Amino acid sequence: MRGALGISAAVFVASLVGLSSRHAFSVSFWPANAILVGLLLRDRSLHNAPAWLGALLGYMAADLVFGRTLSLAAFFAATNVVGAFTATILLRRLDSRDLALRRVHSVIRILACLIPACFAAAICGALLVRVQFHGSMSQALMTWPASELVNYLIMLPAMLTVGWKDIARRISQSNSINSIGKLGTAVFLIVSCAAATIFDGPGSIIFPLPGLLLCALVYSLPVTALLSMFVGTAFLMMLGLGVIDMGQNMAIPYMVVSVRIAVAFLVMVPLTISSAMAVRDDLLGELRKAADHDGLTGLLNRRAFEQRLDTQLAVPLRQGSSLLILWIDIDFFKSINDRHGHPAGDAVLQAFAATARSCCRANDFVGRLGGEEFALVAQVSSADDAQEIANRLREAFAAQTLIWEGAAIRATVSIGACYLNCVHQDMATLIRDLDTALYDAKRNGRNRIEWLEQDISRRDWAIGPRLARA
Ligand code: GH3
Ligand code: MG
Ligand code: MG
Repeated sequence: MRGALGISAAVFVASLVGLSSRHAFSVSFWPANAILVGLLLRDRSLHNAPAWLGALLGYMAADLVFGRTLSLAAFFAATNVVGAFTATILLRRLDSRDLALRRVHSVIRILACLIPACFAAAICGALLVRVQFHGSMSQALMTWPASELVNYLIMLPAMLTVGWKDIARRISQSNSINSIGKLGTAVFLIVSCAAATIFDGPGSIIFPLPGLLLCALVYSLPVTALLSMFVGTAFLMMLGLGVIDMGQNMAIPYMVVSVRIAVAFLVMVPLTISSAMAVRDDLLGELRKAADHDGLTGLLNRRAFEQRLDTQLAVPLRQGSSLLILWIDIDFFKSINDRHGHPAGDAVLQAFAATARSCCRANDFVGRLGGEEFALVAQVSSADDAQEIANRLREAFAAQTLIWEGAAIRATVSIGACYLNCVHQDMATLIRDLDTALYDAKRNGRNRIEWLEQDISRRDWAIGPRLARA
């Protein structure tokens, strides 16, 4: 019920905006249908009979506020609902990645769904024009779909892609362009829009195209969709108000169609490019993830782990924060493989990865260095905290029993550990010493932890005598 009321209110307000913008009948701005479809696609649970009834009443209420008769308001509302309903039904059939414009052909697929919806609305609109205004049906069949299409293409991509909460974060994160590049792009877009108002004429419609294309290359998809929405809306408004003078008689229906289609395609081009860029970014992200992670356990691989450790060691530790570093090797792992088979060994590796992950807090990280060797870095508050985590990991894994094809498998780990609480450590030295400590843990009986001692007097990370504390 709350959803239906929200839909009704959104449609009502958007319809008021549309009705207020009717400065020229020819190129009016009508955002209500796209907003309705966008809301129903964003929250699929809203697509139900009460919501559609709410939408119908929202359209009618706005028309009544603007003094239309009840029958005319109902006819207009029904026309809008038929178009929006067709669009919603068709768009719901698309893959969710298409609706998020995250596939190469998403914009074309969305367009293919919108065109029948535009014509469905146009048929009702033509009947409305004929019955209520005794106007030309063929003219309505020409102008109505173009109006529907341009409004959908302006509004819907932003409705579908923008997560309103994190828009500021997206602006700052978008692509790898620096802030001067981003600012320059915004200025270029504003200047090209302003130029369209100064240099009138038919060509002025595509003046912002280079600016929008640059946006597609510089900003993220949601930001580009939002900017396309602003530019498209501004153009419809300015054309309606005559601020941009096309030098054409806008009372001629096919001129109106031409202008609407031009604005629709103006926003479609940057959206298509931005969508393709987003697909590329997603693929790069997946590739980067695959390159940084171990396929079996999902942990960081050795290269990525060492890179992160190196970065971590270069940053001075915050007051009251220390580092725990564990170098870990599963004991007698070869014999698990030999006795239970390689897949059983893999399951043990995965079980250890899950245990190590469960010992991690935010900002801690764990990697598979190779074979049955792992490493973990954790932020700790004290030496006791460090010991507690290391022991918990060792004990938790030792306590597990893996049932594999009816056989119970148990395993333990040996650990070389160090606790760092002051300036940074040379990573190569540290790894070498951790390896030695791990070797000591093996030699001293396995299923144990050997700790490196930090030489505080030297104020660096030279490794002092090793104390076995586990
Ligand atoms: P130690 O207690 O001294 O560490 O003995 P260990 O048997 O654990 O050590 P060793 O180095 O002799 O054997 C490691 C084995 O790990 C050998 C190799 O076949 C196996 N191994 C390496 N990578 C994988 C893997 O991805 N899956 C499985 N199942 N086994 C692996
Ligand atoms: Mg090993
Ligand atoms: Mg081993």
